[in-house]
Amino acid sequence: MAEKTVLRCQHVATMAEGAPPYGLIEDAAIVLSGDRIDWVGSWQDPLAQQAGPVIDYRDRLITPGLIDPHTHVVFGGNRAVEFEMRLNGASYADIAGAGGGILSTVAATRAASQQELLDTALPRVDALIAEAVTCIEIKSGYGLEPEAELRMLRVARQIPQLRPVRVVTSFLGAHAVPPEYTGRADAYIDTVCIPTLRAAHAEGLVDAVDGFCEGIAFDTAQVARVFDAARDLGLPVKLHAEQLSNLGGARLAASYGALSADHVEYVDAAGVAAMAEAGTTAVLLPGAFYTLRETQAPPIDLFRKAGVSMALATDCNPGSSPLTSLLLTMNMGCTLFGMTPAEALAGVTRNAARALGLTDAGTIAPGQRADLAVWDVSHPAELAYRIGFNPLHARIFGGEA
Ligand SMILES: [Zn+2]
Repeated sequence: MAEKTVLRCQHVATMAEGAPPYGLIEDAAIVLSGDRIDWVGSWQDPLAQQAGPVIDYRDRLITPGLIDPHTHVVFGGNRAVEFEMRLNGASYADIAGAGGGILSTVAATRAASQQELLDTALPRVDALIAEAVTCIEIKSGYGLEPEAELRMLRVARQIPQLRPVRVVTSFLGAHAVPPEYTGRADAYIDTVCIPTLRAAHAEGLVDAVDGFCEGIAFDTAQVARVFDAARDLGLPVKLHAEQLSNLGGARLAASYGALSADHVEYVDAAGVAAMAEAGTTAVLLPGAFYTLRETQAPPIDLFRKAGVSMALATDCNPGSSPLTSLLLTMNMGCTLFGMTPAEALAGVTRNAARALGLTDAGTIAPGQRADLAVWDVSHPAELAYRIGFNPLHARIFGGEA
């Protein structure tokens, strides 16, 4: 039997659903056994005091380790120059003419070796880890050709061998139409995207299948063909949907029992109802909303009323969200979208786990993985309230500090 350790602290936010808010326990203890949580409750309970050696975190707060359920952290190149051009007055056409936009990231990703992609992704992963992130979702989608898509996913699979973090992958071949298929999106889906998905799955590289349903990307019929292929392989799906317009992507995703529909600023009441019915989580991405200076916020009230669970993610990517702070993302979720601090914390713990189909993470309860964060704060609302401040005291991954 694994040796037990007791963590004592002022507050534990278990993030259990329902009352009290945050699942808060005062003068609390968590008993760890190996890489699992064995017990959580009051320090006054004899079970806690007799379980094993105690680590006393005093007046601190313990939450589940944070989960970033939507990132594109593996990519080649850098779009800072494009950012500068835009702010110096260049038009979108000027930037595209100079080789900018998503296709510049595709070109740089195709040109990068696996080692180069890994070397540039790790500092971004480290920034997330420094804020208590213990699980990261990582997508392909900048290769858009078989070998480069596989390379991105291989890099994602390497990261947990080099860092104490869990990685969940999504195949995002249907992210954009590559330049060699301009005007032939259907041919790209059928002859490149779907065969590459099958190859990536055969190599064990795919945990879920994603797409981008938008006027500038793929329509619902094209995404449906990718989702049919995912279903044949037994893989769950998710979708970038209703970011800039309402094409019915959220409804399509829900009809496939999607884990999540992401962005969803423009989702309508029918889309929200379909998501509620299917148990599809709304993954909200305020970093992209901020960077693109969007004005239509996602319908938080509709999600609340329908009982759609809401998650938050950095959407870390070089174009629309060069963001590697999940704490700042929580603040943006509150300030830009009107989420409560409790919803923001649930969004990067319990609901982020749900968005990834994980049942052993995101809450502090017996049997869950011992992925925890110890914070130098007295109340959980401080995590979403402060801007540019990291109060992390300790991070515990699989029971190891
Ligand atoms: Zn994205």
